[in-house]
Amino acid sequence: ITGHVGFSNLPNQIRRKSVKDGFQLTVMVVGESGLGKSTLVNTLFNSAIYTAREVLHPAAERPKTVAIENIHVDIEENGVRLRLNVVDTPGFGDFVNNTQSWKPILETIEQRFDAYLSQEHRVRRAKMVDTRVDACVYFIQPTGHSLKQIDIDFMRQLHDRVNLIPVIAKADTMNDDEISDFKDRILSDLSFHNIRIFEAPIYDDDDEESLMECTEIARAIPFAVVGSERVVRAPDGRIVRGRAYPWGVVEVDNPAHCDFGKLRQMLVQTNMEALRAHTNELYERWRTERLLSMGV
Ligand code: GDP
Ligand code: MG
Repeated sequence: ITGHVGFSNLPNQIRRKSVKDGFQLTVMVVGESGLGKSTLVNTLFNSAIYTAREVLHPAAERPKTVAIENIHVDIEENGVRLRLNVVDTPGFGDFVNNTQSWKPILETIEQRFDAYLSQEHRVRRAKMVDTRVDACVYFIQPTGHSLKQIDIDFMRQLHDRVNLIPVIAKADTMNDDEISDFKDRILSDLSFHNIRIFEAPIYDDDDEESLMECTEIARAIPFAVVGSERVVRAPDGRIVRGRAYPWGVVEVDNPAHCDFGKLRQMLVQTNMEALRAHTNELYERWRTERLLSMGV
């Protein structure tokens, strides 16, 4: 298969196979407490359809470790079933000393590589479970200033191991000009610190429509996201997912209001295959280093 293979564009044969073999994508959300990670996950899933939630290190009031929560749901995109796994990481950045906040997250990602590696070494590989993290959505506080040290440290430590997708959290707290300035500022900070984020590929052999779609998505990074588990009434009477303010309603699903839809579309449609392919490249690089260090 060459070119742009958005989930919705998969040929029928592959669609059938995807249903049978269980196509899946694993997304991790990371960022300081209170930035709206859990809300965004619920928005992505539409909370009612949670199918499983497994809490690994149940967190106390003020967690001493970063807890890792796995949630998965089967969604359907244009008749294709996809298992979306989300790994939530409450506790990141909550400690008195946050200089190594990135460490438990890196460990989790490498443990998942390890689990995959040990399956590859089995004789019968028929039922491999792909535990690898395909994307890490990193929440940036909507300060309008530069990236914080914790953001820089995290992304520098992780960019060789996972596809980083930075997002501006709670974008409804900033106006359009502030968001646009903040996006520029973040991109220049990332480049100054040599941080590699996931680059949404743009395929020039695509039809015009998907080319426009890909370009729009790539241009919107870092996505300015708004999450909400509630529906509200827009001024024109429509019932929408959003957040209501005295000055108006911010609609989660309205591309003129925020980039939530683009983030979702990137993950489960437009760039799903590219994310998975790049995860495999990162994995193979890690595996080479790992096997060398073990003297294999
Ligand atoms: P987490 O600690 O990162 O998981 O954050 P939560 O999802 O628990 O959200 C923390 C608080 O921020 C809650 O009161 C949410 O209602 C609120 N919140 C979540 N998303 C948004 C958003 O996009 N905009 C605004 N203004 N508030 C939000
Ligand atoms: Mg949370």
